[in-house]
Amino acid sequence: MAAHTVLDGPKIQGELCDDVPELSDSDDEQWLPVEEGSDVSVLCVLCHRTLGSVSETLEHCKTDHGVDIPDLVKKHRLDDYGYIKMINYIRGNKCSVESLLMVSNASLPWDSDEYMKPVLPDDPLLQIDVEELSEVTVSMLSPSSKDQVSVLLQTARHAEERAHRAEENLSQALEDLNKLKLLAQGLVLNADTSHGPSSFGPIAELRDDEDEAYFSSYGHYSIHEEMLKDNVRTESYRDFMYCNMDVFKDKVVLDVGCGTGILSMFAAKAGAKKVIAVDQSEIIYQAMDIVRSNKLDDTITLIKGRIEEINLPVEKVDIIISEWMGYFLLFESMLDSVLYARDRYLVDDGLVFPDHCNISLAAVGDIQKHNDRIAFWDDVYGFKMTCMKKAVVPEAVVEVLKPETVISESAVVKTIDCGTVTVSELEFTADFTLKIRLSTFCTAIVGYFDIFFDKHCGNKVEFSTSPNCPKTHWKQTVFMLESPFSVQAGDELPGQITVHKNRKDPRALLITLDLAGQKQTYSLQ
Ligand code: SAH
Repeated sequence: MAAHTVLDGPKIQGELCDDVPELSDSDDEQWLPVEEGSDVSVLCVLCHRTLGSVSETLEHCKTDHGVDIPDLVKKHRLDDYGYIKMINYIRGNKCSVESLLMVSNASLPWDSDEYMKPVLPDDPLLQIDVEELSEVTVSMLSPSSKDQVSVLLQTARHAEERAHRAEENLSQALEDLNKLKLLAQGLVLNADTSHGPSSFGPIAELRDDEDEAYFSSYGHYSIHEEMLKDNVRTESYRDFMYCNMDVFKDKVVLDVGCGTGILSMFAAKAGAKKVIAVDQSEIIYQAMDIVRSNKLDDTITLIKGRIEEINLPVEKVDIIISEWMGYFLLFESMLDSVLYARDRYLVDDGLVFPDHCNISLAAVGDIQKHNDRIAFWDDVYGFKMTCMKKAVVPEAVVEVLKPETVISESAVVKTIDCGTVTVSELEFTADFTLKIRLSTFCTAIVGYFDIFFDKHCGNKVEFSTSPNCPKTHWKQTVFMLESPFSVQAGDELPGQITVHKNRKDPRALLITLDLAGQKQTYSLQ
């Protein structure tokens, strides 16, 4: 499909070109600045240069900084007040060109009335009447065309006013719709809690056939190859077991979700008396061969089945090991199955590894990426596709982040003790504060997790999926903000996060972030 479109592209363009009206420059002309006295001196809004007139200043901004102020006025549909506030905002905040050009209509940073106060006394740039500018060009025309133009201008002004009102109504309606959506989502999310707390969450309640797609994805070798080649992950498990052999000596170990059997073999080599390895996916047939060919079949017993549905050949185990972590830690909800195994099979003083983990958030400032993913939709080949943002923003993105784009300290929003946590505690709300390190625009929030092998370990092992650490196959989870906002180094940005399972698909997550007056629910699936 994509190749077809590309091949047809130039042909269609050629056919349509003749009918497309030429765009005229006349729109720009109405922004010719008013003639001013020659003795004015105007300080540029973007640098320290002083120029001889308003028009020279506007021209200098356009040619030397690439900022066309009249164009900005048009783009953001500013009236006199809006224009004055914008100029004062730019001067007062020593705005960079980049940040100015990425201001979105959805939230003008100079909206507040505080920007009505001039930054420069008698600022000549504030003495232009935005509306009159267009009429200056009219006065230079012949009387007959002057009449026509003034009628046209008036009609255009009325049309613009109507459009403006309609747009305001529409944005109010969209806001209401969004509120309703959040309300509905909240109702759906809370609906199931009426069943009361259940010791085993929805994953345990799923039937085999309902989870077929999930387990069949683990039947293919490629996913196991990716996990095994993630050496941060696999070496952490290996080092934890090989460097803490005293913990494993003569113990009965359960490996929940053994895959190729790698963790079971580490445990056997670390001195476990017996290892029971369970997996519901077809990969277990390979694991049986692997264990046999490594002559570990005396120690390791493999069982095909869902841990929630089988009976183990022993009543209790001393240690549970599992690699259950998904994107943003909790995606896939496999921890539910490990907790089921813990509650059913672990001896009273038994150990679960990893034994604890953290989920953290940090602020991201990457204007380029935001422009590329979000602002992009404002102008696609000259067309507005702004509505697409409503589809793009709510999808969390799993990707490796450049560490230099992280602009705040990290805040831990959840700590999980795998020995004691319950399934219902894996859905949570937490307040957090992000301490900003850099004055820039906050464009997204990043989420990641840390894993610890700690309890009773003389040689503690941990790894992190933070953007500042070597990358792993979990990468990071990025939540893009619809409207970036400016932040200053030292700011303490308060926020709230809510993590829920998606009731329609309990292996997927719904994550709501409430930050700087923006509330957005993201899905991770
Ligand atoms: N331990 C392996 C594989 C980890 S991937 C390794 O570290 O390389 C997780 C594995 O758990 C998958 O193979 C999946 O099929 C299995 N799994 C997930 N939930 C399970 C459940 N409830 N019962 C049995 N196996 C499960």
